[in-house]
Parts: sequence; structure tokens; C-alpha cells
Amino acid sequence: MPVQKERADNGYIGRFAPSPSGDLHFGSLIAALGSYLQARAQGGKWLVRIEDIDPPREVAGAASRILSTLERYGLYWDGDVLYQSQRHDAYREAIAQLKQQESCYYCTCTRSRIQLLGGVYDGHCRLLQLGPEHAAIRLKQNHPIVEFTDGLQGLLPANPALAKEDFIILRRDGLFAYNLAVVVDDHFQGVTEIVRGADLIEPTVRQIALYRALNAAEPHYIHLPLALNNDGNKLSKQNHAPPLPHDDPRPVLIQALHFLGQSLPLDIKDASLEQLIIWAISHWSLGDIPKRLQISPLKNAI
Ligand SMILES: [Zn+2]
Repeated sequence: MPVQKERADNGYIGRFAPSPSGDLHFGSLIAALGSYLQARAQGGKWLVRIEDIDPPREVAGAASRILSTLERYGLYWDGDVLYQSQRHDAYREAIAQLKQQESCYYCTCTRSRIQLLGGVYDGHCRLLQLGPEHAAIRLKQNHPIVEFTDGLQGLLPANPALAKEDFIILRRDGLFAYNLAVVVDDHFQGVTEIVRGADLIEPTVRQIALYRALNAAEPHYIHLPLALNNDGNKLSKQNHAPPLPHDDPRPVLIQALHFLGQSLPLDIKDASLEQLIIWAISHWSLGDIPKRLQISPLKNAI
């Protein structure tokens, strides 16, 4: 897989990769802030990538609102924003490599057939040598990854059936699958550590399997606890999490730092936005983040 030439001086490259399916909310701020502080505290780079590979799920204007919200919260990124909608050639190239290695295959199984199997694909089309017509492409899982070491949570075992499943890398409708795009782009951008929410733990073993299939080294992973609302549900666009407020960003940033277990001085509320960010970078303590996958209910939820 190709790699962008530019590298951070000290080698660390982190990133925040939102999909433009809605505005940023408190849950996405945790992922943005956590990845930003982890990168900046080490003098590394922090990149932003807009994951616009699923047009039907996109909301008009969301990508530019996400970027202006990051700026309003003092989270400035390095270099140009990468848009996945501009990266189709790279995804095709990765699929071509996997085809050449015979590490993937066409599958025409319907969703209802897989539902009848209990939801996990059984490799039915692996040896059928099907053509591309009305077919998805699946990765042949010759060496499935069943666990990984998370930089915060420790050793995380995966659901064995899901970890071993030949998963989809190109959808039947022609759209590239999330796991393929994220691996190709993180590799291209030279990302050394991925800091994101615990809702993305499940696909991690699949992504590591893809790195290995593409003969690339996987990055380190850190999964931050998920922010839940007072009903115990994950804060998400689907659950109608409120967008981040448009006025003073400091109280919300302070809440986010509390959520991440960082102990703040009492007078931090008098700091300017710039001072607050500088303080958070210089006092960033990964070890103080709660080693939990969810935190519920979110105190003082916005
Ligand atoms: Zn099939």
C-alpha cells in the first residue's frame, strides 16, 4: 500500500476521523480531544480525516460544520484534511492487491441467508470462484486475529465467531466497506496510534487482520470509555445526542477533561481557551483515564 511521504519529526502521528453523518456531540468531542491530547503531549502530529464513503448516510454541510467546531474548540490539525470520497483509487488498489494474493473473493449471499445462519457469514462462496456480478468482496480470513492489546484497556479478546468471519471489504452496492477504507487511509497517512471510542473495539481485530493481509504493520490502539446518556445509551447521532453548544467551548472542554479522568486545578475555569488547551496538553495523563468501556450515567450531561 502507498504511504504519504510526510512524517512527524518524532514519528508519532495520531488522527480524528469523523463521518459527516451529523454534528459533533459530547461523545465525539471525547474522541477528538483524547486523540488530540495524546498526539500533542508527545510532540506528534494530529490529522483529521472526513470519512465520507457512505453518501446515503451523509448530512449536507456536516463535514464543514465538524471542521469549524474543531477550530472553535481550539483543536487545530496538521496538514490538509483527507476526504475518503477522494480516495477511491487507493481502495481499488488495495482490493487489487488482495485479489492478486487470492486473499479475497466474490460473494453473492444475501443478507437474509446470513441472518438465517445467525448473522455470521459461513464462508459459503469461498471456493465457488464467482464473478463480480451482484457480488460483494470478502476478505479470506486465513489468519484471523482473535485478540489485541489496547494501550489503555489491556488485552481485549474479540468475539471468536465475528473475528474469524470473512468480512466484507467491498459492498454489493459498490460502496467500499468502512474497515477497508480506514486501514488503507491510516496506513497512507502514517498513523502510528489510533485513539478512538470503545464503540470501535469490535472492528479492531478485523482491521488488524486487513493490515496483515496487506503486508503492513498495524498501529497501536487506545480505546477511550464511551460516554452514555442518562438512559444508559451511547451518545450518538442515532440516539439524538445534542450537538456541541455554539457559545463558550470552555465549560464543555472542562467536562470532557473530567470525563477523561484528568484532575484540573480549581482556577482552570478562569483560563482562556488557548491556556486551557496548553494546560491540558502539558498535564495530559493517559494513566488517569478510567479503564472502563462505558461511563454511565454521564454526570452533568449536556
Ligand atoms: Zn457468499
